[in-house]
Formats: sequence, structure tokens, C-alpha cells
Amino acid sequence: MRLLVIGAGIGGLALARGLLATGHQVTVLEQAPSPRTTGSAITVWSGGVGVLRALGVSTEGLGTRIDRLENRTDAGEHLYSIDVAHAARRLGHPSITAPRRDLLARLADGLPEGTVEYGRRFVRAKEGGSGVQAVLADGDTAEGDLLIGADGHHSAVRRHLWGQDPTEPAGWATWQGLIDLRPRITGPHHGLMINGRAGFCGLLPAGPDTLQWWFSFPWRPGGPGGPGVSGVSGAAGAPALPLLRERFAHWAAPVPAVLEGLREAEIEMFPHHTHRVRRIWGGERSTLLGDAAHTMPPIVAQGANQALEDAWVLARLLAHRPGNLTAALRRYEHFRSRRVSPIARLAATEYTYRYHPPRWDRLVPGPLVTRAYGRWLYATSDYLRGRRRWW
Ligand SMILES: Cc1cc2nc3c(=O)[nH]c(=O)nc-3n(C[C@H](O)[C@H](O)[C@H](O)COP(=O)(O)OP(=O)(O)OC[C@H]3O[C@@H](n4cnc5c(N)ncnc54)[C@H](O)[C@@H]3O)c2cc1C
Repeated sequence: MRLLVIGAGIGGLALARGLLATGHQVTVLEQAPSPRTTGSAITVWSGGVGVLRALGVSTEGLGTRIDRLENRTDAGEHLYSIDVAHAARRLGHPSITAPRRDLLARLADGLPEGTVEYGRRFVRAKEGGSGVQAVLADGDTAEGDLLIGADGHHSAVRRHLWGQDPTEPAGWATWQGLIDLRPRITGPHHGLMINGRAGFCGLLPAGPDTLQWWFSFPWRPGGPGGPGVSGVSGAAGAPALPLLRERFAHWAAPVPAVLEGLREAEIEMFPHHTHRVRRIWGGERSTLLGDAAHTMPPIVAQGANQALEDAWVLARLLAHRPGNLTAALRRYEHFRSRRVSPIARLAATEYTYRYHPPRWDRLVPGPLVTRAYGRWLYATSDYLRGRRRWW
């Protein structure tokens, strides 16, 4: 079968790998002129790492393993720690944080030359009984048996299929980046999550010498510290650094040291988006994958993980049920929408950020939180649940 995948993000590249491994012909059409190098880092939980490995992606030396997530108040008071390493042992795969560019490079590594075509922007499609034609911005067309929109949170394929863009601002935004981890701000496998009235700060090692930092707080389009022309807050428009310092510099260590080390030009800003996850995503010869199907705020760090899960399930379904294509697509959407819908709803509440920890929170035993966390990781992963009856 010839498959057209729109978008060479995490979801599109993962799907391309899964489809090629089962003997399909794949072309990925990406609007950007070259692979993405921005986007700070991504945390891939045990289920996502399992998918990467199942797709033949080496995770050796990719980012860094996360063994412990510690939660603190803005005054520096320890609340509780999640033993991520314990969950990883039970689930069979570690959780890692890696620079997005490195994850994308690993996903692209080994794809046959010419699989990804850069500088090719999808505009619309024509679906017929025997195939689908993608019309590109340069006037060119591409033909395939199936079209998969993996083109992100403002998906053009979704607009073509649904007739509208249902995405709305979630009312929050994240400012983030990567800095040198030396001198050590957190342990090499130890993440810090800090809550306070000003918002939320996360610090996660993303490599032997790299620290991913982020700050999130309520923000509406047009608000201060918003994106410049290039989407990087320091490049144009209002600078973000004074805003972050004003809001967070009074927090306990290590937040002031992190703020001290930031450079305006390296700060990236991402408004959060959300939309209701539908039960049916595509047409007779088309479907969606990743953020295109289920845009959600990054609070639960699940968007990319769920894109990987989509890719794995869709590739398996197309390998095992090539006969009735449309039925296979609806089956994929049925399983994946049921799994991802509650995750997207939870993320849309931005619950952790709003959550000013109550006093009893610090009394909850660590092993209990760890067990609940392991269950959550299992519950959110079709890969880990291994529901083989899909195919
Ligand atoms: C601040 C922040 C932190 C995050 N942290 C995490 C995390 O730790 N863990 C996690 O799981 N998730 C995280 N996410 C979510 C994650 O980034 C997304 O869910 C993930 O990137 C979705 O992958 P995707 O392949 O569906 O879409 P994308 O990564 O958006 O890729 C879509 C691709 O399609 C291309 N494209 C768009 N339109 C067209 C077109 N018309 N024609 C051709 N190509 C097109 C784009 O250029 C892009 O390359 C975070 C998100 C943000 C904003």
C-alpha cells in the first residue's frame, strides 16, 4: 500500500517507521524546509519508550533516564517523591527525557533516503474510492492509497476533514529551554516539580550535561512575554526573561539560579491548546494521528507519548487488516479515542498548575504515590496494556 503521511513530527516519523517495517510504501510530506531543531526536550514515559524500541529506535544514549520526580512548594518544602525507576522496573522500560531534536533524529535514522520530503506543505486532499490525492502549496500533488494527518495542533488535514479548526487556547502557556546542567542543579536522574501561586516550574535533566527548565502560568493570546515573529519569545515582541524573573525570582533555590542562567534568545514560548477528542477522526481513506487528533496542554507530558501510541496501534492494524481499509481506520480511531480522550480532558483542566498543594499532601507516603503513578503510566499506554485482540 502507498501511504501519504503529512508532518514529520514525532508521530509522523514513528508511523513511517511502523509502516515501512510491515512492507508499505511511505512518503512523509513536511512543510518545514529541514528537520526541527527547536522544542526543548520531551519526556517519554515507559510506554512510549516501549513503542520506540518496538519500532526499532535505539534509546541507548538518548537523553537521560529519569529515576525520581520530586515535588516541592515554592518555599522549597519537600512534598513527595515518585520513584520512577520502580515504575520502570515493573513496566519493563525506563522513562527518559531527551532534546526533541535528538528524538526526531533517532526516529528519522535509518528511514530510506527520500522517505521524508521537506518544504512540502499540504493544503487540501481529494479522496476517491480507489485512492487519495494531496494538493500541496507549491501546486504539486501526491497520490496514495491512504492519507494520514500527523500535522500537529493546527492540522491542515483535520481542517480538510472536519471543515474547521476546533483548537482553542487553554488559558496557560509554557516558557522553556535547555541549559547546561553543570554545576548540578538537580541530580543526574532526578527531576524537580515546583508549585506555587505564581505558577509552576519544572526542572529535568535531558542529557548528561543538559537541563530542561520550564515555567508555566496563566496566559491569554496577546498577553505579556508572548511569541515573536519566529515563535521564539526573545526574537521579537515582548521579552520573556524580565517577566519570568519578576514572577519567579523570589522562589526558593534552585529557581533563582536557573533564572540567572537563562538567555533571552534561547527562551521558547508555547501557548497551550485544547479541543474535544472526537470518536471518528477521518474519512474513507484518511485519518489523523497525534496532536492533529488530540491536541492537549503539556501538563501531563503525554502529547508525544500518545502520538507514539497512535503510530504503533495504526501500523499494527494496517499490517494485520489490510483487507478492509476503512474499517481498520475506524477501529484504530475507536481504540485510540477511548484511551486518549480522558487524558486530554485531564490535561485541559491544567490541574497540576492550578493545584496549590494542601498541607496533607506531604503526609501521603511515597510508595503510595509511586504505585499510583505506575498505574497511571500503565493505564495511559495501549502498548503496555498489549491488547492483542485489536488485530
Ligand atoms: C511546552 C511543551 C512541552 C511538551 N512536553 C511534552 C513531554 O514532555 N512529553 C510529551 O509526551 N509531550 C509533550 N508535549 C507535547 C508534544 O510536543 C506534542 O504532543 C507532540 O509534538 C505531537 O507530535 P505530532 O507529531 O502529533 O505533532 P508535531 O510535533 O506538532 O509535528 C507536526 C509536524 O507537521 C508539520 N506540519 C504542520 N502543518 C503541515 C502542513 N500543512 N503540511 C506539511 N507539514 C505540516 C509541522 O511542521 C511538524 O513538523 C509538549 C508540548 C509543549 C508545547
